This record gives sequence, C-alpha cells and structure tokens, in this order.
Amino acid sequence: MLIILEQSCACDERERLICLLEDAGAAVSALEAGGGAALAATGLSGAERRRLERLLGALDAVARVVPLDKPLRHVSTDGKPRPVVVGQRVIGGGDFTLIAGPCAVESEERLVEVARAVADGGADVLRGGAYKPRSSPHDFQGLGEEGLTALSRARDASGLPFVTEAVDETSLARVAACADIVQVGARNMHNFELLKRVGAAGRPVLLKRGFSATLEDWLQAAEYLFEAGARDVILCERGIRTFSDHSRFTLDLSIVPVARRLTGLPILVDPSHASGDRHSVIPLAMAAAAVGADGVMVEVHPRPAVARCDGRQALTPAEFRTLAHAIRSWEAGSPLPRRVMSS
Ligand code: PEP
Ligand code: MN
Repeated sequence: MLIILEQSCACDERERLICLLEDAGAAVSALEAGGGAALAATGLSGAERRRLERLLGALDAVARVVPLDKPLRHVSTDGKPRPVVVGQRVIGGGDFTLIAGPCAVESEERLVEVARAVADGGADVLRGGAYKPRSSPHDFQGLGEEGLTALSRARDASGLPFVTEAVDETSLARVAACADIVQVGARNMHNFELLKRVGAAGRPVLLKRGFSATLEDWLQAAEYLFEAGARDVILCERGIRTFSDHSRFTLDLSIVPVARRLTGLPILVDPSHASGDRHSVIPLAMAAAAVGADGVMVEVHPRPAVARCDGRQALTPAEFRTLAHAIRSWEAGSPLPRRVMSS
C-alpha cells in the first residue's frame, strides 16, 4: 500500500508510522515526489493490510492511503522526474506538451495538411493512427503501412515527431521502425505479451490507461515495459468507464496528482477520447493543466464532419490554436482563464 503523507507531517510522526508498519511485518520505503512525501509498504497479509489501511487512513498525518501492493521498481523513479526526450522536444521536463493530430491517418495529403496546421498552431508532437483498434469490425481499421509512410512524410513536412499506435506484434515491428513514440492503446494496456514486446522494441512508449484499469494496473503495465527493456515511458490518462452517460468515458483527473506522487514519469491526459465531445475538449485540457499533467493529447481534424473516425471529438485547427494559446499564456504566468470554450 502507499501512504501519502500530509505536507504538515513532521519527521517524528513519519518515523512512528514507519515503526508501526514495520512492526506489522511490512517492508517500508520512503518516497519523495511531486513536492510531497509518501511511504510504500509491501509484504503485508490481506487482513493486516486492510486493518492498517483503515487505521492509517484516519490519522491526521496521512492525506490518503492507496492500496498498492506490488513493488514499483522502475516506475517509482526515486522521486526524480524522468522526462522523455523526443527529437528537440522534452516531455515531462517542465513545459506543457501538446500532442495533436487526427484520430486516424486518412490520406497523406490530409495528414500533411493537419500536421502543418498543428505545428503552426503550437503542437510539439503529431498524433495519428495507422492501425486502429475499433470497437466495431465494420468501422475503418486504418491504412496500415500506407499510414506509416504518410506519418513519416508529415514529420518531414511539419518538423514534428510523431506518435502512433501498435496493436499487435506485426504492427509493432513496422511502427517501431519509424515512429518517434510507440503508443499502447487503452484496449491493449492489459496485453502483457504485447507490453513485453513493446518494451523490448527500444522506442519511447506512450502508455494509455485502460478504461477499467486501477492506478496499480496502469503502473504495473508500465513496469512490464521497463522490465522488458524500455527506457522511456509516458503515461496517459484517457477516461474510464463509469455509470455516467453524458460523455463517452469519465476523465479521471484525480489520478494525476496521486500518480505524480508515485512516479516521475511524464503524465499526459487525453480529453478527446475521454469526453467524445469537441465542446468538452478545451475545458478538460485546461483542467489537466491545472491538476499538474505534463501535457495533453488531443484529436484535430481540418473537417471533423467528414472524419472517418472520431469526428465528434475532433477540434478544428483553429480551435487547437485557441487551446495552445491559452496553455502557452498560462505557462507564461497568466492565470488559467475562467473559461476557454471551443465553438
Ligand atoms: C487513440 O489514441 O487513437 C486511441 C484509440 O485511444 P484509446 O486507446 O485511449 O482509446
Ligand atoms: Mn480517436
């Protein structure tokens, strides 16, 4: 379990908590991250762990108890940030990263157009799916290799590195040969065999949170990548399933500050897939900035009405520019605007 301490928790209180946990048989390590302190306790039996979770959760010195029980050897990064360098860009290095582009690569011409538009609008990285994991087999499945060629050309035309998803072993070999960042999608976050292969591919990885994954599931998926050889991993929250039916998924922004205390890996947020609605994308992206995310990934399409995939959640290039402007002004010291809506 992870015990997140209040800022006000004094050293002697912290020592008392460590003794209490060790007396109960736990192996305890102290973590420092995101400006706060936490204790990771492992090795407790189920009943003892539940008893201590209740007990510790009620103490003034404890902000929150997170029931993690497996070691995070790689992901906990000893409290240090672990930025990911992609070309000239640093993700998780303090600046807010904007990843933008269409859901799917539809044609080289349209991709180059949108890549230039988002580069001009302030994007750091281009996104676009060549292999699309769709909920229905009747929907557009992506252009495959032709899509990867288009992404490479769009990179040349715009100067932006690109991220694209690998859905299986075959697509991974092709994606890893050209992409700057390999994406593991929400539907594959639990695919441990794929995670091992992606980790071994040696490229930076963007790991989406599965839509029914707990914090521990997500971080353990990142552990799989590192254990297999990955050196650079970026986490991305993209909404989870809840009973709420006003949006496609529910964006779980509350995971950002908790994950931040556990890991120095960059944490991004995808408000496009979470909401499924372009009108919500900009407000949620601003909210992601407010909770301390390292950046956002948003879908952008020059003509959302004719997009082959996820048009309802796509910003136009002009709306993306509005978002980028609001984010860059905030980074330069202006307060977060009370309201920045897309049209
Ligand atoms: C995507 O980013 O293209 C995508 C399919 O996202 P997710 O895996 O989060 O659904
Ligand atoms: Mn999409």
